[in-house]
Amino acid sequence: MDKSPIKELLNEQKFRLTSERESLLDVFSRSSSMVTPAQLYELAQQHDIRIGLTTVYRLLEVLTKIGVATPFLVDGTIYYAYCGCNHHHHFVCLSCHRVTDLHNSCPSFHVPENFDVIAHRSDAYGTCPDCRKASEVGCNP
Ligand SMILES: [Zn+2]
Ligand SMILES: [Zn+2]
Ligand SMILES: [Zn+2]
Repeated sequence: MDKSPIKELLNEQKFRLTSERESLLDVFSRSSSMVTPAQLYELAQQHDIRIGLTTVYRLLEVLTKIGVATPFLVDGTIYYAYCGCNHHHHFVCLSCHRVTDLHNSCPSFHVPENFDVIAHRSDAYGTCPDCRKASEVGCNP
């Protein structure tokens, strides 16, 4: 993964990417599901990354600010997904919390005259094919 554009953006935010923090970023970017800060902290510990929970929060906060991470609110809990630098939308599976990037599918918003859209966000929530299959197996009368 080429992290140089992300490193530059982090520098602008005065967030120094130490080797431990970089490992944390790697773990986050490789996670296939969205994670809560506590889950990411646990993943970091499994990878022997010596980092505090505060740093996990701080990294997620800064990544969100520069658009590299996206927060999702599901059932009152905030989860984060790694997004990288390319604009895209998401399909969030509410069962397994896997986030699938949707490229080339930008919705259009109808805004009143004289309003300028600078950025937009839009995500779909539902059931992924795996979870759909899983729910179909079982004792159906
Ligand atoms: Zn994304
Ligand atoms: Zn799923
Ligand atoms: Zn879009």
